[in-house]
Amino acid sequence: MSEDMSAYPLRLEGDDVPMVRFMNVTKSYGALVVLDSLDLDVAAGEMVSVIGPSGSGKTTVLRMLMTLETINGGVIYVDGQPLTHMEKNGVLVPASEKHLRKMRADIGMCFQHFNLFPHMTAVENCMEAPVHVLGLSKKEARERSLELLQMVGLEDKVDQHPSRLSGGQQQRVAIARALAMRPKVMLFDEVTSALDPEVIGEVTNVIRELVDKHNLTMLMVTHQMGFAKEISDRVCFFFGGKIEEQGSPDELFGNPQKERTQQFLSAVM
Ligand code: ADP
Repeated sequence: MSEDMSAYPLRLEGDDVPMVRFMNVTKSYGALVVLDSLDLDVAAGEMVSVIGPSGSGKTTVLRMLMTLETINGGVIYVDGQPLTHMEKNGVLVPASEKHLRKMRADIGMCFQHFNLFPHMTAVENCMEAPVHVLGLSKKEARERSLELLQMVGLEDKVDQHPSRLSGGQQQRVAIARALAMRPKVMLFDEVTSALDPEVIGEVTNVIRELVDKHNLTMLMVTHQMGFAKEISDRVCFFFGGKIEEQGSPDELFGNPQKERTQQFLSAVM
């Protein structure tokens, strides 16, 4: 049965429009409900960490923002505009491929596996989307990319191919590549999970700098509780496709209220 879309605004307006809003979002695979009527806001400039047991829906939240798949209910908004939907004759209808392509340019993502283009150098990896998606000239894209590679501390590696870089360096190129699109929202999915312990710090330092200096809106899935505690404005504990509990890092880690949160944290910390 299709949902009554009249309950959802065509766009979000007012002074406190969040950069991201999940409104009553449901995602299922057959009978398995992975996101269960999820409501989640991320304010402009906010860093929100998503934690929780395996299978609780954390990665699915990011995947839905990347519009890699359709949702089964609800609406996701980015910067006040519907992402998963678009307006047609005064009502929201499922987004067209064209609408999704346009909206996707606002969302940057870094994954556990960096997926750099192996045949391109670091700077060419960063230039690819600005040239082909945004239509920047090669010169502009190169300047922007060099600046970002410098920001992530790789100014001496710009002409190297990924195979010549360490895992931590490759992940930093991947972060620069995502930033080169000047996204409104950056998503980080377990970006340190595949890295050797000794290079994790160089990647978390880059993310820390983004939080401290660049005021980006970020949503991060992580197993690194210490890092989440240190850099997040807010932490959401997921359980069964819903937010079981959320709060400031001090509240959530220091004084969790729900039994499931307490159990999870005592198992992982
Ligand atoms: P988390 O990131 O919290 O570990 P996920 O969001 O990756 O959890 O997955 C949530 C649930 O959705 C899991 O039970 C997973 O098996 C299921 N799932 C994810 N992707 C698919 C898919 N393409 N088909 C079927 N089930 C899936």
